[in-house]
Amino acid sequence: MKIYVLIKHVRDTETRVKIGPDGGSLEFLGDNWVISPYDEFAVEEGLKLKEKFGGEVVALTMGGEDSTKSLRQAMAMGADSAVLISDPLFGDLDALSTAKVIAKALSSEQFDLVLAGKQGVGGDSQAVGSMVAAILGIPVAAVVTSLEIENNSAKAKREIEGGLELLSFPLPALVTCQKGLNEPRYPSLKGIMAAKKKEVKTLTAKDLGFDENSAGPKANKVVSRGYAAPPPRPQGRVIEGEPAAQAKELVKLLHEEAKVF
Ligand SMILES: Cc1cc2nc3c(=O)[nH]c(=O)nc-3n(C[C@H](O)[C@H](O)[C@H](O)COP(=O)(O)OP(=O)(O)OC[C@H]3O[C@@H](n4cnc5c(N)ncnc54)[C@H](O)[C@@H]3O)c2cc1C
Repeated sequence: MKIYVLIKHVRDTETRVKIGPDGGSLEFLGDNWVISPYDEFAVEEGLKLKEKFGGEVVALTMGGEDSTKSLRQAMAMGADSAVLISDPLFGDLDALSTAKVIAKALSSEQFDLVLAGKQGVGGDSQAVGSMVAAILGIPVAAVVTSLEIENNSAKAKREIEGGLELLSFPLPALVTCQKGLNEPRYPSLKGIMAAKKKEVKTLTAKDLGFDENSAGPKANKVVSRGYAAPPPRPQGRVIEGEPAAQAKELVKLLHEEAKVF
């Protein structure tokens, strides 16, 4: 099987964020970058399938030169090679433009499966995977917690409101991965050393046939207008008194003020 895994190089989720003074930018306290957590499930699933069926796992990212760190991490986990799509034109793409670029890079490749995270930390659009599949005209199974491949087709379980949906679809296909699908492995020391020698192919806007009219700020359909912090949480209230009186007062407040019953 040939499997592409889409990974996004993101700030560590522990990074503290505040809104910049202009209201239209974010300031980050900390500068540690990692593979977006849901994409780690995608890498792990690709590696498990390769172990079962043989083949090749290719990690692919669109980002700056520093995204190579996450590609090396994926290769240290066991991916065979990597593709870095990098160009100043691709700096601030919206989800659709991102998907168009990734789909273009994949369109000239043969593959059985593309794995992505259900959402990328930072942008959180939950859109790129499904959009890539739509552009390529292949089936997509989103938010998947279980995946089985057999005879060039797949069975997946995905989370829906209050339950699971069972899907079957032919390959090639795209699957977006949800927590619970697997337990991502840690890279071994041997894996980290081997990753340093693995190939990273770089593609630019020109290689993929994009210019400032087809990718970049002019081509974005969605514009970020600014950021707002969530409203401050109301202060908590302490109920004083004996336990029985406290319980009575709590029931009264839940009923009359919070209206939970
Ligand atoms: C002006 C502007 C500024 C922006 N600034 C930022 C910013 O500072 N930080 C930020 O996070 N976003 C930013 N975005 C949004 C971001 O560039 C796109 O929305 C983004 O490419 C999609 O990311 P997402 O996490 O929302 O995608 P999702 O749809 O949530 O991602 C789902 C999955 O798609 C795959 N995927 C997504 N992006 C990539 C990628 N680049 N390479 C490979 N696989 C990918 C991953 O598997 C991911 O788990 C900006 C957009 C604009 C228009």
